[in-house]
Amino acid sequence: MSEFFNPEMEALSRSEIEVLQLERLKKTVNHCQDSAFYKKRFESIGMKPSDIKCLDDLRKIPFTTKQDLRDTYPFGIASVPLKDCIRLHSSSGTTGNPTVILHTKQDIDQWANAVARCLWMVGCRPEDVFQNTSGYGMFTGGLGFQYGAEKLGMLTVPAAAGNTLRQLKFFTDFGTTVVHAIPSYAARIYEVMLEKGIDPRRDTKLRTLVIGAEPHSEDTRKRIEEMLGVKAYNSFGMSEMCGPGVAFECKEQNGLHIWEDYYIVEIVNPDTLEPVPDGEIGELVLTTLNREAMPLLRYRTRDLTRILPGSCPCGREHKRLDRMKGRSDDMIILKGVNIFPIQIEAILMQFQELASDYLITLETIDGNDDMLVEVEMSDIFIDDYSKLQRLEKEITRQLHDEILITPKVRLLPKGSIPKSEGKAVRVKDLRKQY
Ligand code: AMP
Ligand code: ZN
Repeated sequence: MSEFFNPEMEALSRSEIEVLQLERLKKTVNHCQDSAFYKKRFESIGMKPSDIKCLDDLRKIPFTTKQDLRDTYPFGIASVPLKDCIRLHSSSGTTGNPTVILHTKQDIDQWANAVARCLWMVGCRPEDVFQNTSGYGMFTGGLGFQYGAEKLGMLTVPAAAGNTLRQLKFFTDFGTTVVHAIPSYAARIYEVMLEKGIDPRRDTKLRTLVIGAEPHSEDTRKRIEEMLGVKAYNSFGMSEMCGPGVAFECKEQNGLHIWEDYYIVEIVNPDTLEPVPDGEIGELVLTTLNREAMPLLRYRTRDLTRILPGSCPCGREHKRLDRMKGRSDDMIILKGVNIFPIQIEAILMQFQELASDYLITLETIDGNDDMLVEVEMSDIFIDDYSKLQRLEKEITRQLHDEILITPKVRLLPKGSIPKSEGKAVRVKDLRKQY
């Protein structure tokens, strides 16, 4: 069997990739004429699809932002009628309107193909048993990996998120060899194994771990590999670009190959929006090349990374991204869920019992990443303890409804939160790096 899942795409040379990209870019820009949003945008700058003659002409097209997705919520960017769509996903971490991504049948097939390609690249084969610990639903890590793993032909265990004891039982009973987990959860799995006297090397067949959805360091990867006795591969994706399957490490573990038959990659300076040279860190900007329902042109991901120079010994010439270095906005990723501090602030500020100073602390407690929200009380004096408890509970409930995570809420007397000079520090990240 070939070492490539899609030899005709994975084995393309640089020049072949560029020829294919130009052809697909022209087609995509043409197809965008059917999107109310892009049609208006092209008209506003006097651009015609025929203006795209070479790959550099991409720069004539304005950027697309998350705000554009919110402004056109829910279906305003679509390039096909809704009757041709079969699925929608939406991204967490937005106040008000979430961002909606539509998919046609072909989009879902292409997405599954990309994920299968990634999994094959790190050695997954139909003999493997694949267990997915991602939430299934609007988040793309569930269904995205599910379809990809099925396409590859593995036996899939859609365990979904949480219930670590049940996850461990599945590992041992079903002979799981490949697991997909966010890095913080992989470390949690190990802690529960220790508590239960399970030795991953002796008692399980685990061999490969796919970790992604949140930033993590090379050291974290090494420690997780050491703990679980596996090879761990970094998986990068985002709902706007389908979900998982955008960029993935190969067996060399030296950066994430981004599939350039699916995407055109640009790295730009987030302030000037000018391109930075290969090797320099900037914001990742992606253009989809084979999407039907909702192509996106020059989408500003807000993720900071760089293109790694040099070629990869695996033979694939698709560019490699360095692991993500952070974000050019203030988005927090907790348990794989995207959260903006402003979402928390918006809830807190609805309570007249609360003053305007608050502090969000991210910490690791008993192996779990948690959020503590401390907020100062206003001058409205509450001397009744049960009233205070009710208030805390109500704030917690409303925060959970907004950010999908249950934070610990602590009400503090006015003046207790240390004030910084200049910009207020709203987020403290004390999470344990494994
Ligand atoms: P979502 O749209 O909910 O799938 O979230 C996508 C965001 O998660 C990306 O824009 C990144 O900020 C983050 N993310 C996903 N995968 C990784 C990864 N492997 N490393 C670092 N951040 C990641
Ligand atoms: Zn490689």
